[in-house]
Amino acid sequence: MGEMIVKTNPICPYCSQALDKMPGRKKKCPHCGNNMYVRTRPVDRQRVLVTERGAQDIDAQWATIGAKQQAMRFVDETEFNKEKDALSARSGREPSDFDVLWTLHDKHLIEHAKMNNWGLYRNTRLAMAELLVTDGKRRQALDIYLEVVYLDANGPSNIGGATNPDLFKELPPFNPESAFMAPGILAEINMLAEELNLPDAELCGAFLAVGQRACKNLKLPASPEEGCRRFMGERVGK
Ligand SMILES: [Zn+2]
Repeated sequence: MGEMIVKTNPICPYCSQALDKMPGRKKKCPHCGNNMYVRTRPVDRQRVLVTERGAQDIDAQWATIGAKQQAMRFVDETEFNKEKDALSARSGREPSDFDVLWTLHDKHLIEHAKMNNWGLYRNTRLAMAELLVTDGKRRQALDIYLEVVYLDANGPSNIGGATNPDLFKELPPFNPESAFMAPGILAEINMLAEELNLPDAELCGAFLAVGQRACKNLKLPASPEEGCRRFMGERVGK
């Protein structure tokens, strides 16, 4: 919060003069002429009157809360706290939320792969990409988003631990016929590629590199080239 100046009463956060009433929105102080901002403070959900800097601080606090909620989407709070305790016991210091979430996602990946739950595996990879974005690691995030698109091009299914080969014929773990491309993910990739100044050729190269690794590790039916062709064809807003 730093130097944030906050007034919950109708008092100007710049000159501390009393106002007739709490403004409903941004307003110029009649005493000193500075712009006062109205915000809801995350800590106690109080409506407060703040300086421009204070408004920016509160907006940043809300953005952090939003990113954390997004990153927590596929993680249970109890599980999170348990992993946090285990990590701090092992390293002797408090782990970051990023480290806790990353470790949990890694564990989930292994479980989902073991159970042939490839839809869930794909969701966990997506959560990892989102987590990297919240940590400012955009290039790494991009690679994982591309991997998710490649998984989607292979039509992942949740088999739930079944091992009967007859069932696999009816419900294959991957089926490119049920492939789909999520517009939100394509838009996210476009945004990252733009921020990172990646021309289409390099984006394509990154897709193929990521795809070849996933194809080899997971034995996917649609080739990286097929996936890339579909990806480049369906990119929106380009
Ligand atoms: Zn004032």
